[in-house]
Amino acid sequence: MALSPELFDQDMILHCPICNRAMVRKGYWIKSVKAFTCDGCHNEMRLTYGQKIAIFERHRQADAKR
Ligand SMILES: [Zn+2]
Repeated sequence: MALSPELFDQDMILHCPICNRAMVRKGYWIKSVKAFTCDGCHNEMRLTYGQKIAIFERHRQADAKR
């Protein structure tokens, strides 16, 4: 499993683990960041490779249902 380059230009949803706010970011942004700041609670969260894989995988599955 890897981060698929064909998804880099697509909008993905990531959820803040603290306030559960949903944020939309491009695939390439998710691929390249090591941490992000939540739009809602302004806490900085680390984004691990495993979490990135999970976001990409969720996006792929949501896309397949359309
Ligand atoms: Zn938050």
